[in-house]
Amino acid sequence: MRVLVVNAGSSSLKCQLIETDGKVSLMRCLAEKVGTPDAFMNVSFAPDFQKMRYNVAGLSVPECLEKLLDVMVDDPESPISGLEQIEAVGNRIVAGGEYFSKAALIDDAAWEKLKLCEDLAPLHNPPADACIAMMRQMMPETPQVAVFDTAFHTTMPPKSYLYPLSMEYYEKYRIRRYGAHGTSHRYAAQQAANLLGRPLRDLGLITCHLGNGGSITAVNHGKSIDTTMGFTPLEGLMMGTRSGSIDPAIITYIMRREGISFDEMDSILNRESGILGVSGLSADMRDVLEAADKGNERAELAIDMYVYRIQKAIGSYYAAMTRTDAVVMTAGIGENSAELRERIFDGLAHMGMILDKKRNDVTGQIGVNRVISIDDSPIRICVVTTDEEMRIARETDDLVSQMH
Ligand code: ADP
Repeated sequence: MRVLVVNAGSSSLKCQLIETDGKVSLMRCLAEKVGTPDAFMNVSFAPDFQKMRYNVAGLSVPECLEKLLDVMVDDPESPISGLEQIEAVGNRIVAGGEYFSKAALIDDAAWEKLKLCEDLAPLHNPPADACIAMMRQMMPETPQVAVFDTAFHTTMPPKSYLYPLSMEYYEKYRIRRYGAHGTSHRYAAQQAANLLGRPLRDLGLITCHLGNGGSITAVNHGKSIDTTMGFTPLEGLMMGTRSGSIDPAIITYIMRREGISFDEMDSILNRESGILGVSGLSADMRDVLEAADKGNERAELAIDMYVYRIQKAIGSYYAAMTRTDAVVMTAGIGENSAELRERIFDGLAHMGMILDKKRNDVTGQIGVNRVISIDDSPIRICVVTTDEEMRIARETDDLVSQMH
């Protein structure tokens, strides 16, 4: 089945056209800095994936997608010449609330529920919904599927997902932990089981998705039992621009002292904090590592704090599970930064997570799933390349195939 995977963020759009039968990618698209004057969109087609760059300054995320659909129909290199040749669309949705415990076909009823979830991920859900609304108009016959980041976490027990607030707020507003990055955690856990040559149901795993956003999940016998992201993707680890967990009283304190609005505070926590806020330089880990190398103290501090918070989260999930067989590293930082992995596991050897420095080296290893702990490390350490788009395409194919 030919599936267009759409992964819309607040200022980015990642898409792939995937032929699920052969698990091959036919088109890739990445738009970044959307909404700024520097916005651009790269589109490439199989087999060469020669990038063509489009100026998308001034366009919104759904408008970039509309432009991509035009390119896909018009470009002679494109494997399709009409939108009807896209058999299904798989949309990545960050928050599905308590409404969605698995991928869903977007009919009118699902659409109503989806709109109710927008508040749960205010940066991510609205642009994704806007893309779906646009495609439902442009290609009404094509099934639209939503694949939720939260779905994998619906197995968490109440002691993990409830907050110690009056139950009134859970009952009235469904305030609880939903988690995120579920597609990636599920995939990382399965790939780690394959690497270890053991069934997932027998394993206790701690999966670490460390990208621009970051979250860690305790996966017990294949099921998520706890995760660091919470009611929204703001809780938990320190991230590129998000603060992660802080004392909630800080929020009202700053608001009173600075006389700022809820929206301004929201923006401080989501867009101006984390690695960017502490380093004062960049949200991008590569920039911050480079600056720290050159002696920038704030960059070094940001990395130190980032690493420490990851170590504490891994330690707490070691305590939460009855056994831990492996820690799994994935996403931009988890997959590519040998330096950060070394810093993280340097502090965890006493828990039995012992890195092999040579295996940890990335030279020639980018994209290779592998074990990077020493042979007799009581707990293994794995690196897994996350392939979120392929997973979304598969889940979309499964759901749409069931309809026929
Ligand atoms: P997203 O959450 O947007 O999908 P990614 O998973 O692509 O993000 O991760 C992006 C992050 O990964 C950025 O902070 C980037 O600097 C970091 N990253 C990518 N490659 C490296 C590398 N070789 N070393 C350190 N950090 C890296």
